[in-house]
Amino acid sequence: MQVVTGKSVLNGIAIGKIKIYKAPKREISSDPAQNPEAELECFEEAVEKAIEQQNVLYEKALASAGESSAEIFEVHAMMLQDDDLIDAAKEIITSQNHTAEYAVKQAFDNQAKVFAEMDDPYLRARSADIIDIQQSVLNILMGISADSMQGTEPAILAAEDFAPSETVRLDKSLLLGMITSEGSTNSHTAILARSMNIPALVQCGQVLDEWEGKLAIIDGYNSCAYIDPTPDLLESLTNRRKEDEKKQALLQELKGKTNTTIDGRTINVFANIGSPADIGQVQQNDAGGVGLFRSEFIYLNSKNYPTESEQFEAYRHALESLAPKLVVIRTCDIGADKMVDYMNLEKEANPALGYRAIRICLTRRDFFKTQLRALLRASAYGNLAIMFPMIISIRELRECRDLLDECRKELEAENVRIGKYQVGIMVETPAAVLCADELAKECDFFSIGTNDLTQYTCAIDRQNAKLEPFSDTHHPAVLREIRMTIEAGHRHNCWVGICGELGADLSLTETFLRMGVDELSVNPASVLPLRKTIRGIDLRLPEKKDEVQK
Ligand code: PEP
Ligand code: MG
Repeated sequence: MQVVTGKSVLNGIAIGKIKIYKAPKREISSDPAQNPEAELECFEEAVEKAIEQQNVLYEKALASAGESSAEIFEVHAMMLQDDDLIDAAKEIITSQNHTAEYAVKQAFDNQAKVFAEMDDPYLRARSADIIDIQQSVLNILMGISADSMQGTEPAILAAEDFAPSETVRLDKSLLLGMITSEGSTNSHTAILARSMNIPALVQCGQVLDEWEGKLAIIDGYNSCAYIDPTPDLLESLTNRRKEDEKKQALLQELKGKTNTTIDGRTINVFANIGSPADIGQVQQNDAGGVGLFRSEFIYLNSKNYPTESEQFEAYRHALESLAPKLVVIRTCDIGADKMVDYMNLEKEANPALGYRAIRICLTRRDFFKTQLRALLRASAYGNLAIMFPMIISIRELRECRDLLDECRKELEAENVRIGKYQVGIMVETPAAVLCADELAKECDFFSIGTNDLTQYTCAIDRQNAKLEPFSDTHHPAVLREIRMTIEAGHRHNCWVGICGELGADLSLTETFLRMGVDELSVNPASVLPLRKTIRGIDLRLPEKKDEVQK
């Protein structure tokens, strides 16, 4: 087995035989043309045809990969009408007496070189586009069909690189995956492969002729490919691919459908994320919004305190990308198991019960205000909810709200646009559950953090593996607290969700629905199975599980 590493374009698995995709050698003679007028005519016809082809490719890419991926072919059609380029080729035919093929080779190569030497990376990248349209015109002039290079059997195609036009032209029903020695993850080819859902590995350094016909696996999750894989690897990655296929089928089945039980109860299914980079997963799994954006990961991924504008950019990006979907951003929940050096937090005997989360924010007010200002500024760009973690009392909630108001006033005085936003808390301490009625009166929503709620209710350190045998994720005390929180929230017009791991426990979905939960926020991979489960529940039937002691 040979392992080839590169850069993955799509998280997915492709399994199949390799076909080396190689453009036929083009012999272009520099001998003088017999009939320059006929050459000129051939050239003009070929350019016309190439423009038509780009228009066809545009339509094809539009249907398979969407507008932004298709745009490149509009650009190609325009390039083929560029007077400087076309006149330079004609000049080579008429004044220098060369063939149309030779003129295309020379004139397009020259222009590609000019672009390749430019400083601006965008313009530099246009060099590859000139070569792409050059190939199209040359193929027409020389009667070469690009389609014939793909073969007739489904295969993983391996090549030095693929031009965007080659990628779109490929017969997708025969295309299992792509491996290239060159290319980049942001090239048009990579973008097209991603939007066509084809696993591809780029920049893997080499593509060897001897791979032709060999079995290979592209493991997009681990950015590598295996040539001649071992039977064990083949079996485990075949299973992984089957899981992916099931997920895709589920996605197709559920896309655009509501999360409604058989008897008509609808709830929101949202996703938990740690950074704006996870937004793709929210969309891929068709989540209705974000129920928990753990903002502390911005702090954890930073070498120093993230500035107001850095935070604003991160929140704005998430809100803008997902609008009009709701994005619940939890304020910094640092401390305990999540430490950063630059904050100089002291080591404590009981970190889970220590100086953490809102306790830090309410004592380091300038630090907290930086985040609140960034959140308020971002509120103008989407549908925001601000959530405070680890709240144990109404006093803390009021202090948070006062600071938020203070920041709002400051920003209004600076003429900064602020949008609408909801304000809520994590219910993750027994104290918050027991004060839920008072807290609900001053909140738009509650989100139950079952991870910490279980830890604090059962006095079981969630970090301590030794305590696993004592831990019961379905502990009746925790389930009763969840019910109490939902009921208290509803008494005061406050919607209630669950964003801890328990929300993804499908054996409890019916129980939570019967308790009246309004939203479940789970890791992106759990969104689709949860949505399917909800759609299969009928609350008119007797409860299947009666875990909750009333
Ligand atoms: C929780 O405590 O349930 C929760 C969602 O927050 P975290 O896991 O980030 O502490
Ligand atoms: Mg928590």
